[in-house]
Amino acid sequence: MDSEGQMVVSSAGITESQNITRRPRALETPISNSLKFTEVMEPRWEQKGQLGANLCLSDTVGEASNFQKSLKEPGKKVLIVYAHQEPMSFNAALKDAAVRELSAQGCAVAVSDLYAMGFEPRATRSDITGTLSNPDSFNYGVEAHEAFKKGALAGDILAEQKKVQEADLVIFQFPLYWFSVPAIMKGWMDRVLCQGFAFDIPGFYDSGFLKRKLALLSLTTGGVASSYTKAGDYGDFRYFLWPLQHGTLHFCGFKVLAPQISFAPEYSSEEERKSMVASWTQRLKSLWTEEPIQCSPPWYFGQ
Ligand SMILES: Cc1cc2nc3c(=O)[nH]c(=O)nc-3n(C[C@H](O)[C@H](O)[C@H](O)COP(=O)(O)OP(=O)(O)OC[C@H]3O[C@@H](n4cnc5c(N)ncnc54)[C@H](O)[C@@H]3O)c2cc1C
Repeated sequence: MDSEGQMVVSSAGITESQNITRRPRALETPISNSLKFTEVMEPRWEQKGQLGANLCLSDTVGEASNFQKSLKEPGKKVLIVYAHQEPMSFNAALKDAAVRELSAQGCAVAVSDLYAMGFEPRATRSDITGTLSNPDSFNYGVEAHEAFKKGALAGDILAEQKKVQEADLVIFQFPLYWFSVPAIMKGWMDRVLCQGFAFDIPGFYDSGFLKRKLALLSLTTGGVASSYTKAGDYGDFRYFLWPLQHGTLHFCGFKVLAPQISFAPEYSSEEERKSMVASWTQRLKSLWTEEPIQCSPPWYFGQ
């Protein structure tokens, strides 16, 4: 962060927001245990230490101070929604680093490894079990909402919703695809964050049903950091974060932590890549003390 609180891109390509203090780099430690969570129906939380209060959908509104306090308690639950095909990829290294560090903190960490699970990304009528409200003219949003209320959503959706419901923090780990998430992760958002579960009308943005949870996008790019500036070819990286962070996560009520962007790992040296992984690990050490971003137009587009 510079003296004016503007975005800073480190030499290793890590961007930090005004909400994140600059941290020293740590040496990467070997992965001692890789906790993978691919069951479809029942979440199994890898747990070291005491579980904190379970923040569920029925929690009362407007208890911001309790919310902040609860995040400082040990034993938080973290769900990592992870989209990469290759276990040796850089994204896998970032995911493994998060599992390792958060587990060491005593967090219960679950990973939804979407490709390994063969997660269905398509929102279709087979997501609704039982009778449709209007079989003559299928409307996915309406039918998913009704099915949620009746407990008639497909099992894989219910399983993911259970993981989200139990999590204090959801981390999305993915490579940037066309300025967005890979299709499999978009499908997770389309199907899991349905009306009734994540939001209602009214009942969105700060009133969204996931308002007592944190969300964080950890992503990698092909483009270098200098291309993702206002004057760069791709424009400021905050532009592509708008639909994901504001249009999706904040809409569902999530409090959004500053993104972790690891720029251009393919075009970085081995040393720079290791530094990016170490920087992510280092950030996670004090993640629970971070304030969410002000998720509104000025953060993305300026005044
Ligand atoms: C369909 C599609 C659309 C895309 N759209 C965009 C776009 O809109 N914008 C954009 O910028 N990019 C885009 N890209 C590029 C994409 O974002 C990058 O290819 C991706 O982010 C790179 O991450 P990775 O995990 O796949 O890297 P990898 O290729 O898996 O890893 C890079 C290097 O890191 C090494 N590595 C792995 N683990 C470690 C470790 N622990 N320590 C050090 N090194 C390690 C790997 O061996 C490899 O050499 C797109 C790609 C595709 C396929």
